[in-house]
Amino acid sequence: MTAEASANVDPARCPLCGGGNACAMACENPQARGGPCWCTAARFTPELLARVPPALRHKACICAACARAAAQAERDAC
Ligand SMILES: [Zn+2]
Repeated sequence: MTAEASANVDPARCPLCGGGNACAMACENPQARGGPCWCTAARFTPELLARVPPALRHKACICAACARAAAQAERDAC
């Protein structure tokens, strides 16, 4: 337990919906797991990334549901 300013940052939670991103462990050490995690195959649109609070960028991964929803929205718009 550490009492730092980043105490509110939970790397295991999606910064957009607050749900578990199922990605934190894989992203930390993809080699050790024998392959890339799902987020390397997912498409993160610039719009989606822009919605992540600056304080959480590069700290908490976006979850699969939010990534998929954003990709879907972009496709529908085209
Ligand atoms: Zn999410």
